[in-house]
Amino acid sequence: MIPFLDLKTINAQYRQNLIDAATRVIDSGWYIQGTQLKDFESEFAAYCGAKHCIGVANGLDALTLTLRSWKELGKLKDGDEVIVPANTYIASMLAITENRLKPVLVEPDEHTYNLCPTKTATAITANTKAVLAVHLYGQLAPMPALMALADEHGLLVLEDSAQAHGAAINGKKAGSWGHASGFSFYPGKNLGALGDAGAVTTDDDELATTIRALGNYGSHKKYENLYQGVNSRLDEMQAAMLRVKLQHLDTETQQRKEIALAYAKGITHPALSQPIPANSTLTSLENHVFHLYVTRTAEREALQTHLANTGVQTLIHYPISPHQQQAYAQWNEQSYPLTEAMHQQVLSLPISPVMTDHQVDAVIAACNSFEMP
Ligand SMILES: *Cc1c(COP(=O)(O)O)cnc(C)c1O
Repeated sequence: MIPFLDLKTINAQYRQNLIDAATRVIDSGWYIQGTQLKDFESEFAAYCGAKHCIGVANGLDALTLTLRSWKELGKLKDGDEVIVPANTYIASMLAITENRLKPVLVEPDEHTYNLCPTKTATAITANTKAVLAVHLYGQLAPMPALMALADEHGLLVLEDSAQAHGAAINGKKAGSWGHASGFSFYPGKNLGALGDAGAVTTDDDELATTIRALGNYGSHKKYENLYQGVNSRLDEMQAAMLRVKLQHLDTETQQRKEIALAYAKGITHPALSQPIPANSTLTSLENHVFHLYVTRTAEREALQTHLANTGVQTLIHYPISPHQQQAYAQWNEQSYPLTEAMHQQVLSLPISPVMTDHQVDAVIAACNSFEMP
């Protein structure tokens, strides 16, 4: 079976470096808020081109604590509207509703799966205060246009960069476009820890200080509490693992892109639409880091079964739209036809950076040999 994501083989490449880094942490006697975190934060801020990086416990907390900080700083209040793509992963929604803000679901662009500036502009009301720009599947949302729109209307922009470490437009990376950006380092993300971890990047000094305090019991100074905070910290062990893996992120991204290019060129089945044109090149893919390679077909179930029978593991991102989840029963009657169609048709192909050429060819052949039911 060609696995969807072969994390074991990915991490085995760095086995000795990870063990050495873990040993240093064990021997240091210091496990929370130490030098590994400090160094990872500077290295990741520099990687993204942001002034600050604040390590937190996971990607959901990165988004939740940023919105909460804007509330503490008086920039957002209960009930303010936050524009978010209707087809996003549930975590984007949870960060908004946890803060008693109002998500305004907007249908994405049909081809990029990301917010489009035109539909976003139409959704802006007098109560709109922020945009949660999700870089879904690893492709940067159209940030130049979204930032111009936000400037025009005085909106805050939070990037959800959980799937897009290193994606860029004109050399400017995810994490440096919005007023803040949330990252996840869940093991399966492009930059993955060996456990849960996340971070916020921002150029805003005041926001950085507030997030840091909120994630540490609301304390900006030992035993002095400014806010009713939470415990959301990136520990030394995960920071040490991430420092090892950050050194290889660009190489792995390059490998993901090469697999994506091979798929786009090789998969010619007419019933299967590809996320990028067949004649794409490495330079035309600057804005996409292929966290996922998502194809679309009206015959998803049959294709998934065929691929499984041929030894290719696939996954669905995501099978149920957020507005159709039981958790958001109040939205269940709403209709987002484009989003619903996407969630009925998308199928993600294997994209491990360690895939061999032989495995890539086998996935292509398996797709092309699909017989429509
Ligand atoms: C993974 C993910 C998150 C949440 O990250 P966790 O570290 O799992 O909490 C948020 N948004 C998107 C788009 C994600 O893919």
